[in-house]
Amino acid sequence: MHMTFEHVSCDLCGGEKYKLRYRKPDNWLWLNQFEFPVVECLNCGLVYVNPRPPESSMADYYPKGYHDNRDSEGHMLRYKIQAEFLPPLQDENVLDIGCARGDWLIYLKGLYPRIKACGIDSYADSTKSGDVHLMCRKLPECRFHDSEFDIITSWAVFEHLHRPSEYFKEVARILKAKGAFVMLVTNSESLYGKKAFVEDVPRHLFHFSETMLQKYAEKYGLIMTSCLYDDRLFDGRGIGTFYYWFLFKAGITWQHIYFSQFSKTQRLAGNIGAALDRIVFKKHWEAERKKSGILIAKFTKP
Ligand SMILES: [Zn+2]
Repeated sequence: MHMTFEHVSCDLCGGEKYKLRYRKPDNWLWLNQFEFPVVECLNCGLVYVNPRPPESSMADYYPKGYHDNRDSEGHMLRYKIQAEFLPPLQDENVLDIGCARGDWLIYLKGLYPRIKACGIDSYADSTKSGDVHLMCRKLPECRFHDSEFDIITSWAVFEHLHRPSEYFKEVARILKAKGAFVMLVTNSESLYGKKAFVEDVPRHLFHFSETMLQKYAEKYGLIMTSCLYDDRLFDGRGIGTFYYWFLFKAGITWQHIYFSQFSKTQRLAGNIGAALDRIVFKKHWEAERKKSGILIAKFTKP
C-alpha cells in the first residue's frame, strides 16, 4: 500500500490555521501506525483530520463488506427509530445520501408505499429492491434538479466526506422550500469526541457539532430547526474517557497499544479506567444533557 496524505484548509471557512486536539491512529484496521492529527480551526472552530488520506486512497480504509448486511435485525430497529425523525409521509420524493444498498429506503417504502425513493452511495453497487432508485455516485455528480426533493436524509455519512461543504451546497439546491433535511453525525463537543477517542479516525474526517452545523446551514441557505441528542441509533456515550486517561497517565502511547506492550502497573491502570467508564457511563446522562457524541440535526429551506 502506497501511503499519501494531504494537508487541507478548513472546509467551512477556508482557514489555514488550527490547533491540535489529539492524535489517533487507525486503531480499528491498523493499516499503518500513522497518528492522524485531529485539529480545530482557529477561525471557525471546525474539527477535522489534517493531514488525511486523499480521496483516491480512501478505499483502502474501508474493508470489503463494510457496506454489506445493513438489513439485519439490528439495522431494522435502527430504521424504525430513524422514521420517527421524519414527518408522516404520503407521496414525497425522498433522497438518502450514503444509502449503502438502500435498506433504509426499502424500510421507509414499506411504511409509505407511495413515496418515491432515491439513494446515492459512492460505494454501493446494488440494491435488493427495484422500488429504490440507486445511484453509485457522489452527490454533486448526480445532477438532480433544483428543489427536486421533499425529504433528504443522511445517517452517519457527512463525517466521512472529504468536502462536506459541497454536499451542504448541493442539498440546499435540490431540497424543496419547506422541505426537510435530516442528518445524523458525531458531536465533536462531547466526551466521545474530545476525550474518549471513539471517533473512527481516519474514516471520520470531520467531527461536527451543533454550532458548526448551524454555521454550515447559514452559509448555504438552510435553517436548522432542531438538534437532538439521541443515543438510540448509535452509542454516543464517552466510554473510553477514563480508560485512555489512566493509560496515558501511566505512560502508554499509541505505539505501546499497537505492540500490546503494557507493564503490570499500566494494565492495572487501564483496568481501573475501564471500570470507571462502566460506572460513570452506565446511564445515558450525556444524551439527556445534550452532550452525547451523536446528534441528529434537522434543517429546512426557507
Ligand atoms: Zn474554519
